[in-house]
Amino acid sequence: MEEIQEAAALLAGAKNCVALTGAGISTESGIPDFRSPGTGLWESTNMMADLSASAFWHRPARFFEVNRALIRQMAGAGPNAAHLVLAELEKAGIVKAVITQNIDGLHLKAGSRHIYEVHGHIRSGTCTGCGASCTMDELMAKVDAGQVPPQCDNCGEAIKPDIVLFEDPMPPAFMMAYQLLEDCDLLLIVGSSLVVTPVCYLPMKVENLVIVNLQPTPFDSRARVVIQRKSGEAMMGIRDVLKQIGKL
Ligand code: NAD
Repeated sequence: MEEIQEAAALLAGAKNCVALTGAGISTESGIPDFRSPGTGLWESTNMMADLSASAFWHRPARFFEVNRALIRQMAGAGPNAAHLVLAELEKAGIVKAVITQNIDGLHLKAGSRHIYEVHGHIRSGTCTGCGASCTMDELMAKVDAGQVPPQCDNCGEAIKPDIVLFEDPMPPAFMMAYQLLEDCDLLLIVGSSLVVTPVCYLPMKVENLVIVNLQPTPFDSRARVVIQRKSGEAMMGIRDVLKQIGKL
């Protein structure tokens, strides 16, 4: 397919390619995204309300009712072909780093090493009082035992999952990702609607874009290549071409 060949050629020629991923890269691992028609989480829940800092502080029972199942589902999921190919491309020096909006940790499980988790992750929680850290399993054990919100063993204050909620400030990883793109000559975007702020500003910093996404995005018109196919299939196609031309 022509777009796959073109994308592979751009990757092969790039000096500083970075990947930017969103929820769409993980749907093939069984985790629903937000905006896919029919299956996206927005269809069943008001995520803006339920995944917000206000919900955590003022409606903790509802917050954990919605998010407990989601976190469990993500924690039990494994990386798919698209995550694995990105890790392989990083190992080969073709992709320098992955900036991800995802909290599911699947890039880490796939073997990527330079990862900027700009919306946090589901591996741990932090006490909002003393800053003590705990694992997500420890946090969830408290929730399962009826402690909502979960409380810190040291100081008794609420423990918040290390996820960036709506209304939260962006973490240092976001500024680091922003700076990383100063020298980026190709941004490979995989599985993102590119409408969530402030991440949707990141592609503006890079001249050359390759977009792999099932639905159109606001950046398609200025991308070098747009591949409207499933990310696993598209990334495996790109890997095959890179192998054929001796880059992998
Ligand atoms: P989004 O839901 O807004 O968009 C996902 C895009 O991926 C859609 O445009 C869809 O067409 C596309 N898509 C779905 N399946 C695909 C596939 N197999 N191959 C290619 N494209 C596919 O997601 P977003 O842009 O990441 O923004 C949503 C926010 O939701 C992010 O902030 C993210 O933190 C959060 N989120 C994360 C997860 C996760 O960690 N896995 C899951 C749901 C939501």
